[in-house]
Amino acid sequence: MNEHDSEIMAGMLTDEGFIQVDSRKDADIAIINTCSIRDNADKRFFGTLGQLKRRKKENPEFTVCVCGCMMQQQHVIDTIKAKYPWVDIIFGTHNIHKLPELLANIVAEKGKQIDVWPEGGEIVEGLPCKRLFESKALVNIMFGCNNFCTYCIVPYTRGRERSRKPSDIVNEVRNLVADGVKEIMLLGQNVNSYKGMEAGSEEVIDFAELIYMLNEIDGLERIRFMTSHPKDLSDRLIQAFVDCDKLCKNVHLPVQSGSSRVLKAMNRRYDKEKYLDLVGKLKAVVPGITMSTDIIVGFPGETEEDFEETLDLVRQVEYDSAFTFLYSIRKGTPAEKYEDQIPEDVKHERFNRLVDLINSISAEKNAAYVGRVEKVLVEGPSKTNSKTYTGRTDGFKLVNFQGTPEMVGQIVDVKITEGKTFSLEGQVI
Ligand code: SAH
Ligand code: SF4
Repeated sequence: MNEHDSEIMAGMLTDEGFIQVDSRKDADIAIINTCSIRDNADKRFFGTLGQLKRRKKENPEFTVCVCGCMMQQQHVIDTIKAKYPWVDIIFGTHNIHKLPELLANIVAEKGKQIDVWPEGGEIVEGLPCKRLFESKALVNIMFGCNNFCTYCIVPYTRGRERSRKPSDIVNEVRNLVADGVKEIMLLGQNVNSYKGMEAGSEEVIDFAELIYMLNEIDGLERIRFMTSHPKDLSDRLIQAFVDCDKLCKNVHLPVQSGSSRVLKAMNRRYDKEKYLDLVGKLKAVVPGITMSTDIIVGFPGETEEDFEETLDLVRQVEYDSAFTFLYSIRKGTPAEKYEDQIPEDVKHERFNRLVDLINSISAEKNAAYVGRVEKVLVEGPSKTNSKTYTGRTDGFKLVNFQGTPEMVGQIVDVKITEGKTFSLEGQVI
């Protein structure tokens, strides 16, 4: 979501005549779009801000803008004011559309600009966007979150849930397809609670229905979404995997923990059994579906038995991949106040065991792809070798193969020759 906000900011600035430079030393303006999901994101922000101070000293015209989730927290704004008074522009997650105006005010020497909205107003449509990939696009379908998982800062930094109108989403996707996009990733903190309504109509379009609508768009090849909360992934959505040929057979279904006790303390509103039932249903109805997840290790009060429940769940689901996180205390969340915080060494030891298990399952699953022919949407040359190209399968597996520039943005057939832990190797056929 932050990445997409950055694409929109880059789009607005490009329209204003700014150009993007590759090196920080060539820039006249720096924008730091912050994340606050874990403490290391916060730390990196202040580290980067410290480095920019030198640039500001060399060139007082150098403009520093900071935005994103961290700015929605008063304690962060207070720290910036006290320790980094040379920051020129501060804005939040709800008003990125104001960036050109705030910059114009700086140029007009109106002084420091601080504009952070506590809540989201009307959804602003039609903002320009400078995409990271020609053939893939991120598409917001909703903003905010109402779930208040007890560890999570997002409901405080992104506000309450608001859904875009289905017609606005369909029109955006049509325009993207006309501009060469083949794959869209629908974005929301919990896409399953999408409630789309047209102006003046009482009819509610749910997430499954939105997928059926998007599946009709000519020229669009692939639809993905993230993230979907297990507590309300509907049977209708599972059926959409069967009925909608463009919906990729891959789901990111964050579990967070395998212990029902911990899940309750996290306020996730499902338990281990319900999650496993859901996975069973998905695998039965959508043969070959690939799955990934998010797991937090060391939530307050997590015992060795709770952690073993997580290992057990991972073994049962056999995820294709997983994002694993050490629990990080977030100021202002309920879990910040929980007394039984887990010592760092225990968290790390559990984390390593979990990663080892996940990696061994990923490697095994990827090895089973050898000999199969997969449809790969080619993203571009790899960063390290210009002849090696990378792309993704329908199931979101990363594939490396020898390619040519004309393949970029095309869907090609690749025969898999090797399965590694994090990727597949193959040959175009
Ligand atoms: N809305 C998505 C998650 C967005 S945040 C969902 O509910 O699935 C992405 C991931 O960051 C979460 O799934 C969680 O695993 C992790 N995360 C969030 N808060 C965290 C914290 N305080 N400490 C560690 N990991 C956290
Ligand atoms: Fe955070 Fe939970 Fe909302 Fe996801 S659903 S953003 S984890 S509060």
